[in-house]
Amino acid sequence: HPVVIAVDGPSGSGKSSVSKAVARRLGLAYLDTGATYRAATWWCLHLGLDLADRDAVAEAVRTMPLEMGVDPSVESVLIDGHDVREDIRTTRISEKVSAVATNLEVRAELGRLQRALIDAQKAVGSFSGGRGVVAEGRDITTVVAPDADARVLLTASEEARLARRALELHGDAGTEAVEATKDQVLRRDRDDSTVVEFQVAADGVVTVDSSDLDFEQTIQAVLDV
Ligand code: C5P
Repeated sequence: HPVVIAVDGPSGSGKSSVSKAVARRLGLAYLDTGATYRAATWWCLHLGLDLADRDAVAEAVRTMPLEMGVDPSVESVLIDGHDVREDIRTTRISEKVSAVATNLEVRAELGRLQRALIDAQKAVGSFSGGRGVVAEGRDITTVVAPDADARVLLTASEEARLARRALELHGDAGTEAVEATKDQVLRRDRDDSTVVEFQVAADGVVTVDSSDLDFEQTIQAVLDV
């Protein structure tokens, strides 16, 4: 029986590292849907497009030659042969990704792509004998895979999320590092919220609040769901 686990949450909630760990433990594939939005942003900038030109952006995403890896232990994101794993995590992309993700035609296109990747993982068992996938993002529990076997909204207090991002980006969670992170994290969450609801759990979605949990406890809480 294939298993689909959907995990949504805001930035800094820890959903990527937690979802990856859950996938590894269960021998499932891992789909980082945020990476598809980041890749789309990279591709549009690579083509020199104005991100405000909605039709041109949607058309570029429809024809984007993207190859997404789904191994939880080996990240792989290729666009037209370019390895963009590192580039798509830079501030250049983080600052612009919401502009692409709020384009509804882009959402429809990438949603279809994500759904196809999920269905492919249900059909074939590629990792450690398990069949299925942990898919993570903002609208997986609600739009992309509302039929998932388990649906989790991973939240954390603003304070905890800012501290985690600061640690990730600047290597420390002191006042200055947190201030430097604030604009990016909070602005992005605000922009993303205009098209997708990821702050409140939908019906049937279990909320896991990781504010006071360490990494291992959070993994365990998701496994319990
Ligand atoms: O999760 P991550 O921070 O990598 O996501 C990057 C961006 O992709 C988000 O800020 C959001 O704009 C978009 N996104 C989305 N829907 C998803 C996953 C990500 O709109 N399911």
